[in-house]
Amino acid sequence: MTNRSLEGHKRYNNFGTYLKNIFGEKVFKVCLDVGFTCPNRDGTKARGGCIYCNNDSFKPETTSSRKTLMDQLNDGMDYQRTRYDAHKFIAYFQAFSNTYDKVENLEPLYREALSHPDIVGLSIGTRPDCVDDDILDLLEELAQETLLWVEYGLQSMHDKTLDYINRGHGLRDFHETFLKTRKRKGINICAHAIHGLPFETKDMMLDTIKYLSDMGVDGIKIHQLHVVKNTLMKKMYERGDFTLPSLEEYLELLAESLEILGEEVVIQRLFGLGPKEILIAPSWDLGKGQFNTLIDRYLNKVDSYQGKKHQYFGMIERAEQLIGSRNPLGSEVQISLKGEQNPYRFTELLPTV
Ligand code: SF4
Repeated sequence: MTNRSLEGHKRYNNFGTYLKNIFGEKVFKVCLDVGFTCPNRDGTKARGGCIYCNNDSFKPETTSSRKTLMDQLNDGMDYQRTRYDAHKFIAYFQAFSNTYDKVENLEPLYREALSHPDIVGLSIGTRPDCVDDDILDLLEELAQETLLWVEYGLQSMHDKTLDYINRGHGLRDFHETFLKTRKRKGINICAHAIHGLPFETKDMMLDTIKYLSDMGVDGIKIHQLHVVKNTLMKKMYERGDFTLPSLEEYLELLAESLEILGEEVVIQRLFGLGPKEILIAPSWDLGKGQFNTLIDRYLNKVDSYQGKKHQYFGMIERAEQLIGSRNPLGSEVQISLKGEQNPYRFTELLPTV
């Protein structure tokens, strides 16, 4: 993407345009909650989950694990048909960890979604520690039949942050799962990153994006950290343990993130919407459309665009060094980034339930 080619175009490779180029028309995602849980909540890895996680914060009203998968699909599609005159859809297995089961239980669910004639692809959101070789076999098989995206939550490449937020997996899990998935034919990999996690500097956030870029992600979702009700993070935020980026700072972070990424990376999200009833901060009061206008204007103003500063950043070697230096026994080891000692005392802050 050159600067000259941008007139009248988006300054980044957005998911909507990517899908339109494949299917010849707009394609909409239908979000599903088919009753999975997550090893970070059910006690396998931890209990209580990530300290920011209230799963209600990312479920639209048309999903409910009490409804059947097909009812959720039909309700979601009807809503978008009425609102946007939509015809084609991607089934998005969104809530919790959507590969967290045996492959013989997963396959019928994915295939049921695909059996609907208007479903043209699958997006499967999961944790990098919930995918084994059998599941990759299944995903690879499905990827020969349909457009298939797997979405791995990384959030940050920094183990000290992952420890702090009680993520229950480390950089190693993401790194190894990514490399295994990359070997499989046809699977598109999207990674999730959060900007604004506690104690992360701007450089740390951009390092995560550089790492994902170096690894060769096919797509990325970035969103601002949400502080929501009924989470440990709310308590920490309210007692002043950390602050969140302002809207201006967040726009700047996004622009710099987009500049790092190669122009072929599909930008699936740059902004998250949390339900107003449970959102504590940030209180930007913006809808998706308003935010998209803001980011477009900001990118124009500062003449920023995806790929502007794209290069290889040497982050794979750095990640492998960090992984190698991490005590496999867990988070008691002090991870040193840029020579600094880990300043956080995680164990005092983690949920005890
Ligand atoms: S991995 Fe996802 S679902 Fe599980 S606790 Fe963390 S944010 Fe919640």
